[in-house]
Amino acid sequence: MKNSFDYIVIGLGGLGSSTAYWLSRRAGAEVLGLERFEFGHGRGESQDHSRIIRLTYHTEDYVRLAQQAYAAWDTLEEESGSHVVLKTGEINFWPPVTTLVEEDYLKSMAVCGVPFDCLDHREVMKRFPQFVVDDAIRGVYQPQGGLVGAIAANEAHRRMATQNGAVLLDNRPVTSIRPMENAYEVVAGGQVFQGGKLVIAAGPWTNQVLAHFGLSLPLTVTHEQVSYFASPHLDDFMPERFPVWIWMILDNYYGFPVYGAQGVKAAKDRFAPVDPDQRGFDPDPVNEEEVRSFLQQHIPRAVGPLLYTKTCLLTHTPDIDFVLDRLPGHPDCCVVVGATHAFKFASVIGQTLSELLVDGSTDKRIDAFQFSRPALGKHTAPSNL
Ligand SMILES: Cc1cc2nc3c(=O)[nH]c(=O)nc-3n(C[C@H](O)[C@H](O)[C@H](O)COP(=O)(O)OP(=O)(O)OC[C@H]3O[C@@H](n4cnc5c(N)ncnc54)[C@H](O)[C@@H]3O)c2cc1C
Repeated sequence: MKNSFDYIVIGLGGLGSSTAYWLSRRAGAEVLGLERFEFGHGRGESQDHSRIIRLTYHTEDYVRLAQQAYAAWDTLEEESGSHVVLKTGEINFWPPVTTLVEEDYLKSMAVCGVPFDCLDHREVMKRFPQFVVDDAIRGVYQPQGGLVGAIAANEAHRRMATQNGAVLLDNRPVTSIRPMENAYEVVAGGQVFQGGKLVIAAGPWTNQVLAHFGLSLPLTVTHEQVSYFASPHLDDFMPERFPVWIWMILDNYYGFPVYGAQGVKAAKDRFAPVDPDQRGFDPDPVNEEEVRSFLQQHIPRAVGPLLYTKTCLLTHTPDIDFVLDRLPGHPDCCVVVGATHAFKFASVIGQTLSELLVDGSTDKRIDAFQFSRPALGKHTAPSNL
């Protein structure tokens, strides 16, 4: 196998797999992807049946990027033959007390021409009798929202990258990166590779990889979970009848129709900080009970025996905006951090990174995602990674 490539992608979770795919469309066999664990492992952020995709965002730039995200997923679907986006409709529930600003969401969608319906509690329950909400709750329904089949999307991105000639290797932890003249020497699983340009897509382990550049970001990694409930009324929760939904508070409740498992999926953010290498895999029973009692109150027919709970990691930036930029001092090396909500954008993020590295620029609006923005502070050498 050759050991010199034009592009090396470090980390093949959701964002790295998409980047390998989009780079491979331009550079084929000149793309190498390196993954620390086995492909499709469940230790990171991206490996579950579903993730929400939505146009309901608080800034115009995110709404426009979400519109471009659908186009990128269309390309993957056309080329791979895999069906990864399911438009179920999406409903946001706005309680009277929340730190999120409903007006920002409505304005951003209006500016971008996104259709939505504002519903009072009666209209919500008439349209979707599965929900029970009182008159303090307002609903915003957006018909293009839905889910991305995350496991299927990751597999399709990697399969298509390989089909385009890219070399993707798993069980190859990157342990050293050394800048050379016009290239990087990357050691992974004891093998030495050379890459002209790099993408770091290491999710919760980003700072471990950035340490090779003497850089770090103020990231917090938390331990999260989602639960699947074996509702005795599964038919009511099929995708053609039941939308994805979000309770619009910061540590929100959210849920999905039946997809990928024989249960209704629901979750509440935990935001429990954890070291990604020391994490446990046991679910938190308190969180499971919080979700169950929320469902009992608001989606009672979804409640049934707990099928299972899947734990995973989540990477936060201080402002919850992504990092999608070149490294300071390294124009040939890009880093991406998903900042808790990137799966819906996975394919367009890969497309954007390929544009940055192959073309030198992108038409996507990514100014908010700069490495050097004030919210990310100074990027001095990390102390102990
Ligand atoms: C419970 C939960 C619910 C979510 N819900 C949504 C949602 O509804 N909608 C949405 O859009 N987003 C959602 N997100 C966020 C989204 O899933 C993440 O933003 C996205 O999956 C991040 O992908 P990633 O590729 O950055 O990380 P990962 O998938 O963790 O991939 C990083 C990869 O890098 C590899 N790696 C690390 N270090 C090295 C190394 N040294 N060498 C080689 N490889 C390395 C890791 O092994 C890993 O495979 C959710 C996340 C969670 C946890």
